Amino acid sequence: MQRTALTARRRRRELDELSAETVDLLVVGGGVTGTGVALDAAARGLSVALVEARDLAWGTSRWSSKLAHGGLRYLATGDVGVARESARERHVLMTRTAPHLVRALPQVLPLTPGTGRRRGLTVGIGFGLGDLLRRDAGTSSLVLPGPHLARPGEVARLVPAVARERLHGAWIAHDGQLVDDARLVVALARTAAGRGAKILTRVRAIDLRADGATLEDTLTGATLTVRARVVVNATGVWAGTVDPSVRLRPSRGTHVVVPAARLGSPTGALMVPVPGSGSRYVFALPAQLGRVVIGITDEEAPGPVPDVPVATRAEIDFLLETVSGVLSRPLLPDDVVGTFAGLRPLVDTAGSSDGPSADVSRKHLVEVSPSTGAVNVLGGKLTTYRTMAEDAVDLAVKHAGLTAGPCWTTALPLVGAPSLVGPGISTGSTSSSNGTGPTHGMGSLVARYGTEAADVLAAAVLPGSASAVGQGITGAGHLDITRAEIEWAVTHEGALDADDVLDRRTRVGLVPADRAAVHDIVEQLVTDTLRRL
Ligand SMILES: Cc1cc2nc3c(=O)[nH]c(=O)nc-3n(C[C@H](O)[C@H](O)[C@H](O)COP(=O)(O)OP(=O)(O)OC[C@H]3O[C@@H](n4cnc5c(N)ncnc54)[C@H](O)[C@@H]3O)c2cc1C
Repeated sequence: MQRTALTARRRRRELDELSAETVDLLVVGGGVTGTGVALDAAARGLSVALVEARDLAWGTSRWSSKLAHGGLRYLATGDVGVARESARERHVLMTRTAPHLVRALPQVLPLTPGTGRRRGLTVGIGFGLGDLLRRDAGTSSLVLPGPHLARPGEVARLVPAVARERLHGAWIAHDGQLVDDARLVVALARTAAGRGAKILTRVRAIDLRADGATLEDTLTGATLTVRARVVVNATGVWAGTVDPSVRLRPSRGTHVVVPAARLGSPTGALMVPVPGSGSRYVFALPAQLGRVVIGITDEEAPGPVPDVPVATRAEIDFLLETVSGVLSRPLLPDDVVGTFAGLRPLVDTAGSSDGPSADVSRKHLVEVSPSTGAVNVLGGKLTTYRTMAEDAVDLAVKHAGLTAGPCWTTALPLVGAPSLVGPGISTGSTSSSNGTGPTHGMGSLVARYGTEAADVLAAAVLPGSASAVGQGITGAGHLDITRAEIEWAVTHEGALDADDVLDRRTRVGLVPADRAAVHDIVEQLVTDTLRRL
């Protein structure tokens, strides 16, 4: 069994071991931030345990737009430092740590008489500045091509559903796009596990202290006390539930999902200015499994944090109307096959009192909690998880007086990444190589598993492993997920039941009709696989 393989059996064994030992670092929360912290700490030689109340990527980390941003949006607010950091982290992801999971996504901003000269000019300048960030980060134009003005023919090739009549061209610029956000989290968790970290899902922290926590195994109801030299709280929008000193101002972002065929199976993203706003855009992003994801909204979401946030009718209508403004045939509510919403863990710094080590403008906060004594790491972006983790582990090591090596995660490929990638060799090429375009078969496997694609097929033992999970099922023919991937999710990716597989390892569940169509077969495969572990 690979050291990076997460299984139910490993979980049981490591949970038993945990009550008898003192770990250097206990991480609470298994989103991109927590798994990033676990990897950083384990790579520095610390003993690490991570507990996640539900499943890997249960929270905000599975509801993102799945973009590895180049930082352009931060330039708009004058935050050059954050913008450069974002571009640098995108570079690290695309060329070293996860080139198999991030591709170069062409983003198309159609130019019509309605766009206005001023907006067209502003976008061109913005894209030019974004390109400076790319160069500053050292990202080759072979990995991420620079921006250019395109003719209508190129626009139609990338996004066939754009209305041609009044189109006189478009700005095209490239950014990084993840094949899937939850897949990045699983890759981080497995890479950390490969360096000895215990990754324990279905384990909730019910009480945090500076020297450990009280945990509940939610599968059995048993509680245990774990001792740790330092605790890191990476519970995102739920941070206030384990630390009363944390003040967050969650904001909801909503996406709708439509069949890719409805937009002519685009390979590029469509970027549509929000009418009446000088700086907001709605994106239609090609996604894996024959889908296009349209987002995003930004709505204050005060009050109790729900398990799974829900999109509102008004948000769905806003997204459809905005995108329809540039399409030859408007999108209608009936075109929507799924919706999802996530809460941004925005830090309300007015409430933090203990000298945060990161200022508000950095968008993430790393501090020792005045209330629990744990290190809180909150806010930020998926793209910058690595620097958040570095900051958090630096502070944790200093605070607890631990002996640890320096951070070296910029040079540490995640599972599935080719170990040596230079400029131009990256799988993040301009083609739709990460499964978000219309690729099938081995292409999709490589897009999701990188160098492990062949292992996924080779490890499967149940009959028909190379066939698609939806084969022969009405309405599921477009799901290019092999039965082997369902087995792999259980034998290597820590999936404990069919929900983990449908909703976080494969993302079939983003479309309820797809989920219903393959639910029973996936459940059977999961049961059969768990039985033999
Ligand atoms: C709509 C939307 C779109 C976005 N798009 C992008 C994008 O395109 N690119 C980008 O870079 N960023 C994007 N972001 C930001 C990014 O998604 C988040 O910053 C990031 O995912 C936050 O990760 P996290 O690990 O801090 O939190 P989470 O992913 O929420 O993880 C917290 C985890 O803690 C667990 N937990 C909670 N309480 C406990 C407990 N008591 N014990 C144990 N575990 C617990 C939860 O179950 C959860 O899994 C987007 C955000 C939103 C909302």
